[in-house]
Amino acid sequence: MVTESEILKSLSNIINPITGQDLVTSASVKDVQVSGDRVAFSLETSLKPGPEKDHLKDRARSAVLSVPGVKNVSITVLSKSPMAERAAGHVQPAERILNIKYVIPVASGKGGVGKSTVSANLAIALSKLGYRVGLMDADVYGPSIPTLMGIHEPPRQEDGKISPHVRYGIKLISMGFFLPKGEAVIWRGPMLHKMIDQFLGSVNWGELDFLMIDLPPGTGDIQLSLCQKIPLTGAVIVSTPQDLAFQVAEKAIFMFEKLHTPVLGMIENMSGYVCKNCGSHEEIFGSGGAREYAKSHRIAFLGAIPLAADIRISSDGGKPVVEAENSSASAQSFIAIAKGLVAELQLRERGEKSDTSLFPREINQPGKDKIEIIWHDGHESRYNAFDLRLACPCAMCIDENTGRRLIRRESIRKDVQLSSMDRVGRYGVTFRWSDGHATGIYTFEYLRRLCSCPACRTDADAKTGVNYGIAR
Ligand code: ADP
Repeated sequence: MVTESEILKSLSNIINPITGQDLVTSASVKDVQVSGDRVAFSLETSLKPGPEKDHLKDRARSAVLSVPGVKNVSITVLSKSPMAERAAGHVQPAERILNIKYVIPVASGKGGVGKSTVSANLAIALSKLGYRVGLMDADVYGPSIPTLMGIHEPPRQEDGKISPHVRYGIKLISMGFFLPKGEAVIWRGPMLHKMIDQFLGSVNWGELDFLMIDLPPGTGDIQLSLCQKIPLTGAVIVSTPQDLAFQVAEKAIFMFEKLHTPVLGMIENMSGYVCKNCGSHEEIFGSGGAREYAKSHRIAFLGAIPLAADIRISSDGGKPVVEAENSSASAQSFIAIAKGLVAELQLRERGEKSDTSLFPREINQPGKDKIEIIWHDGHESRYNAFDLRLACPCAMCIDENTGRRLIRRESIRKDVQLSSMDRVGRYGVTFRWSDGHATGIYTFEYLRRLCSCPACRTDADAKTGVNYGIAR
C-alpha cells in the first residue's frame, strides 16, 4: 500500500528554485491524499506561470510516479507570496559573526509600539532559560535601553575594546551609554555605519547564544543598511493590534524580504488591557490582528503581551518586568514568547518535516472537553480537557528547574472546558481554559508524548510534563 511518507520522501528529492531547499522542507507540498494507486496533493509556489513553473510540476509528478504502486497523480498548483515561501524555509545560515549563534533584530514599522520593551524583556527571558545573551541597542534616535535596564554610565574600555555592561544576566551596549542623558544626536549615514562597526567589532561580546538587536523604528534606508552590515539569523516583528500600526508593521516585513532575511515571527504587544486591581481583561485596541496577519501570511505568531501597568512601571524603574516580577502574568507572557522563539529556531534548523509524526494534519475539537489530533503519520490521539489542563507546561503549573508539577489535581475543576485554541508558530498550540488559565504553550512534540493510547503509553516521563520540548 502506498503511504503518505513515501510520497513526501519522493518529493523531498526535488529542489524548490525559490528557497534552494527541497519541496517538503520548504513547505511547498500540502494536503497529500492517497487512495489506492491514486495520489493527489497541492503544490504551493511563488513562481510565475511559465516554463519554470511547469518544469517544477512535471518533476514533482515524475517523482511521485516513481513510487512503487502509484499509477495516477493529480497536482493542484497554488500560488504563494514570495515572502511566505521564504518564511516557510529554514533559517538562513548566518555567517557566524564573532562567536554568536543567533543574531536577531527586533523591528517595528513605527515607534512607540513597545519594541525596546519587548527586546529587553525577551533578552532577559532568554537568559533565564539558560542562554548566553547580548542586547545591542541600535535604536540610535531614542536609545531607551539605558533607562529600561537602569544603567547610564559609559562602559569600560580595555586595550581598545569596549567591555559591555552586564545587567540582569545579559551583556548590553547602547549609544545611550556614550551620550549625555537626554541629548539628541543628528545621525548621518557614515556615523551610523561607524557606530555599528564599533558595536560589532570593538565590543567584547565573548561567546553568545543570542544577540538581540533593538532596531530603530521604521523601515528607511538607515534600517536597511544597518541590517545589511550584520549577518542576521531572522527578525522578530513587534506590532500593536490597531490596524494602523499593523499596516505599518507590514512594511517592516517587506524590509526583511528585501534583505532575504526570514521573519521568525510576530509579537502582538499591548494586546488587551489587564487591570492591575481586579485582573480583568479589556481589549482597548482590539486584539488578534497580528495573529490573523501572521496566520494568513504563514509567519509564526510568537505570542501576545498584554497592556499592563506593571510592564511600564518596571521599565521606567530600570528593571524590566521579567526581572522585577518573574512570576507575574506579564513576565510569563514574555517567557512563553522566548520559549516559542527558541522552538521556532530549533524547528527551522532541523527542517520542519524531518519528523512528520510531530506535525498534526488535523486538530479537531469534537466537544468542549475533548481534543483530537490526527498526525501526519496517520496516528490519532485523543485528549480530555481535564488531563490536558493538568498537564499545562507553563511555569505556574510546573517548576521549570525541577520539573515538579506545581498545580494540584484537586485545584482543577472536574468540569474544566476548553474555551479556545490558537496555533503558536508552527510548533504548538495554546489553550484558553474555562478557569481563565491560558499561559501554557503545548508543543506538538509534547502533545504527541501526552498521547495516552496503549501504543504511546510507555513514555511515562512525558505525562509529568518534564522536557516539554521548548525549554532548553
Ligand atoms: P518603542 O521601542 O517601540 O518606541 P518602547 O518600548 O519605548 O517603544 O515603549 C513605549 C512606551 O510604552 C514605554 O513607556 C513603555 O514602558 C510602554 N509599554 C510598552 N509595552 C507596554 C505594555 N505591554 N504595557 C504597558 N506599557 C507598555
